[in-house]
Amino acid sequence: MSEARVGLVIEDDQDIRELVRAVLTQAGFDVSVAASGVEGVLAARSLNPDVITLDLGLPDIDGFEVSRQIREFSDAYIVMLTARAEELDTLIGLESGADDYLTKPFRPRELRARIAAMMRRPRSVPAMTESMPSADQPAEAVARIGHYSHNGLDLTYASRSVSVDGQELNLTRTEFELLYALLEAGRTVRTKSDLVRRLRDEDYDVGSYISEADERSVEVHMGNLRKKLGDSPQQPRWLQTVRGVGYRLAPAER
Ligand code: CA
Repeated sequence: MSEARVGLVIEDDQDIRELVRAVLTQAGFDVSVAASGVEGVLAARSLNPDVITLDLGLPDIDGFEVSRQIREFSDAYIVMLTARAEELDTLIGLESGADDYLTKPFRPRELRARIAAMMRRPRSVPAMTESMPSADQPAEAVARIGHYSHNGLDLTYASRSVSVDGQELNLTRTEFELLYALLEAGRTVRTKSDLVRRLRDEDYDVGSYISEADERSVEVHMGNLRKKLGDSPQQPRWLQTVRGVGYRLAPAER
């Protein structure tokens, strides 16, 4: 149906590079590798990969800068692999446009699971029949509906497009998924754990372990999303923070 998915491994350590290459190859990707940041940005531009794993500590430019540069032209799913455990670093990574991170040493299984969850978020899906969820069904059990419109924001799932007051926006897959989850939930609050599970493509009530760092990463993605939407945390048009809990959609403007 479609051609092979493309993966790109940007990593200067040969052992880790080969390990990640093997994981991605087993997951069905056509894999290319780059051993430096500059090489990685060039490869990302020419290959248009679906997934990029990005080492933070590269010999020329660091992973944060590589991520920023790649984000200027690519919506690839970027997983940052960091040898440093400091939460601060991983948050800066997410602010620079990465979708997710794993701390080395990581289990190949974990990397595979993250990538598999992301690949279930399509770049574009065939248009589907318009069906409205019924009130007594949980949102996650309902087939994804095609279009949402709220306070001047329009989101179309099939084309993964989002516009604000008619102006098209470029969101990463993670930002798109978070926005979609809130539109879908309406005025129901989504907790940060709910949203972490959403990004992992798990059911909301599965009860899997969510760390504080996972929740912080949702906050960072939400912050990035807010910036792109031009939304105000104090007087939100869309993303309303529910202190200590999570987020929900702001009320409809009159
Ligand atoms: Ca390195």
